[in-house]
Amino acid sequence: MTFRVSTRFGLGFVRNVAVGVVLTLGPNAGAMAQSTPMPTAKPSNAAEKAEPVPAKTLFAAEKLPSLGKAMAIGYYPRGCLQGGVALPETGPTWQVMRISRNRMWGHPSLVQFLEKFAPLAARATGWHGVLIGDMAQPRGGPLPFGHLSHQIGLDVDIWFMPMPGHVLSDADREKISAIDLVSKDRLHVNPQTWQPQADVAFIRTAAEQPEVERVLVNAAIKKEICRMQGDKHPAWMDKLRPWYGHNDHIHVRLRCPPDSPSCRKQPPVPNDAGCGKALDYWFSDRVLHPKIKPRDPNAKPPRQITLADLPPACKTVLDEPPRLPGDN
Ligand SMILES: [Zn+2]
Repeated sequence: MTFRVSTRFGLGFVRNVAVGVVLTLGPNAGAMAQSTPMPTAKPSNAAEKAEPVPAKTLFAAEKLPSLGKAMAIGYYPRGCLQGGVALPETGPTWQVMRISRNRMWGHPSLVQFLEKFAPLAARATGWHGVLIGDMAQPRGGPLPFGHLSHQIGLDVDIWFMPMPGHVLSDADREKISAIDLVSKDRLHVNPQTWQPQADVAFIRTAAEQPEVERVLVNAAIKKEICRMQGDKHPAWMDKLRPWYGHNDHIHVRLRCPPDSPSCRKQPPVPNDAGCGKALDYWFSDRVLHPKIKPRDPNAKPPRQITLADLPPACKTVLDEPPRLPGDN
């Protein structure tokens, strides 16, 4: 197992260096190498106007974490991660899915949370364990696809699907999909897939952990749990918030850890179970059947998030040398 992991990191590192060189030299590197030296150092118009490289491209190119001390920097959807650590791909009660994405990184508090949560969830649900979806990239930052948040190493997706009793192959971890618990019309849970006892135990176990700031689920799941609770409003229900998607996984978000002074807190969840009327918005026409305007082909493409949009410390995180496997 260790060999496999370091092989991956090794390959990743080589790739990373190559990308770094291309980015450093920039688009004019080839032209400059071929022609006679430029008469002046004045940048060309084209270089002045060139769009900066999107931050997601820079962060996705980093295959290893930065060497600095562990710190979540910025806000969940606008920041980065220094000194990230990886969750082992296979544990006694968890397995990481979609390994090829290299998103099994987090602040150490996220890895510790998962190592604690996985056995608790296994016991509460009767499952062999849990399947872990995306966490963060090695240095956090914006992702090229899939999420707006997951940028500072404190977010994790955990699948609605029991871990099988055997170790999944890498190929299976790419192929298998999580179980969708929501009906086609998105108004209810799907009675074919919803397992009231195990699924609620899974969600509740996550929401009950003190370091968990909130747990995002599809509104149909929240509505069903509200119905099951009746008049009871246990404290963990406050942390369970409806969000788009999240019909086949929960999204667990941890609080800012004490070692991360520049981690920006999210406003606390309201002291309210958020059932009844509070859920109406999520079942409104504009959420269930959003009108998608055809894109104007002449419109300017949306502006990409660049390094300048992130906290300044994120530039340092990108510039730091990598922590190689085996370094401490
Ligand atoms: Zn998520």
